Amino acid sequence: MRKIQPVRGTHDLAADEMRRHRHVVECARALAERYGFAEVATPIFEFSDVFRRTLGDTSDIVTKEMYTFTDRGGSELTLRPENTAGVARALIGGTFGDRRPVKCFYAGPMFRYERPQKGRLRQFHQIGVELIGAPEPLADIEVIALGAHVLEELGVLERVTLEINTLADEPSRLAYREALVAHLEAHEDALSEESRQRLGRNPLRVLDSKDEGDRAVLADAPLIDAHLSPEAAAFFDAVCDGLSGLGIAFARNARLVRGLDYYCHTAFEFVTEALGAQGAVLAGGRYDGLVETMGGPATPGVGWAGGIERLAALVAQAGEVAAAPRPIAIVPLGARAEASALRLAQRLRHAGFAVELTYRGTLSKRLKRADQARAAAAVILGDDEMERGVATVRDLDSGEQVETPEAELGAHLARYAPGR
Ligand code: ATP
Ligand code: MG
Repeated sequence: MRKIQPVRGTHDLAADEMRRHRHVVECARALAERYGFAEVATPIFEFSDVFRRTLGDTSDIVTKEMYTFTDRGGSELTLRPENTAGVARALIGGTFGDRRPVKCFYAGPMFRYERPQKGRLRQFHQIGVELIGAPEPLADIEVIALGAHVLEELGVLERVTLEINTLADEPSRLAYREALVAHLEAHEDALSEESRQRLGRNPLRVLDSKDEGDRAVLADAPLIDAHLSPEAAAFFDAVCDGLSGLGIAFARNARLVRGLDYYCHTAFEFVTEALGAQGAVLAGGRYDGLVETMGGPATPGVGWAGGIERLAALVAQAGEVAAAPRPIAIVPLGARAEASALRLAQRLRHAGFAVELTYRGTLSKRLKRADQARAAAAVILGDDEMERGVATVRDLDSGEQVETPEAELGAHLARYAPGR
């Protein structure tokens, strides 16, 4: 029989990796809450139109990355490639009531049919925040500050750079697009096939091409700066000044564009050199046109999403994640002791201890099992000890043993409680 394989681009999370994932999520969730972003969850699949309409027909995601299928009832559904569209769909449907702004946090799996490689999966996970209903640059600043705070708390802020750009307002962007297209058309022969296609449909996307030939053409391409309306320029200045005022370091990257069509004004990315080719760990921007595009009332928004796998990999490099709490092992020897071992385990678990029950074998086999479970101490219960109402507590690091009356067990074990 053929070995059963995981689907290409998917990945199991074994205990250590899951622990790092959880660390990333818990850290982000706690900080988001401190900034007033409450956790929400939207479904993992939506009607395909939710993504088609919001991401735009020319985005990478819609043209080649969506996991779309028809369900048994004939509905065309898509596994979510990102969470902003789902949040906007929920907002328009009234899920979040009508108070504005809405500030939400989410964490969960996303699905994109990409070419799998290191740091690029087909099922990956994101944390993210959305701040919807605030047009002020203050919202952008706070959202970016939260991203920086998460990275700081994870201990990886020194290893990333914040790059920032403006995609301006629509008139500025249209004027710029024209100038850019003129430049690119003048050098069309030197462009890659992909960029030539984008030229007609989504020329701004050419800016973040990694192709050598494209880079050469882009080297002297016009920048958006010359086309900024006074309002767009003032908005961008306010965001930059706000970040500087908070001591958040950033670098202007005039070529930074977001892959999604609904972005305007602020675009930003925290990037790292430490993960090889897939360097973007947390990215976002302002999407004032999104809600209206989906048929809702004109509603500004700004947010970001971070790749949990990439963040967890950075955290692992920094060696930052606390190990699981060490349990206490229960080692019963003899029929009577075995019969009461589970009761003791439950009593200790209710008292807050992590407890590992050893199921079978001799004393030495069970102690070996306790070691594998990284137990800090073993409670050894023999039949004759049971008779006398005592248990032996062995410290598994020092090897020291103390006979303890059962009634005092909890107090004696307190030193091994998680968090000590
Ligand atoms: P990239 O340029 O790497 O394709 P993107 O612009 O498609 O990124 P976003 O849609 O902004 O990415 O998603 C936010 C974050 O999610 C990224 O910065 C990255 O950390 C993570 N991410 C995106 N796609 C993947 C993937 N296929 N596998 C793992 N992480 C991903
Ligand atoms: Mg992508």
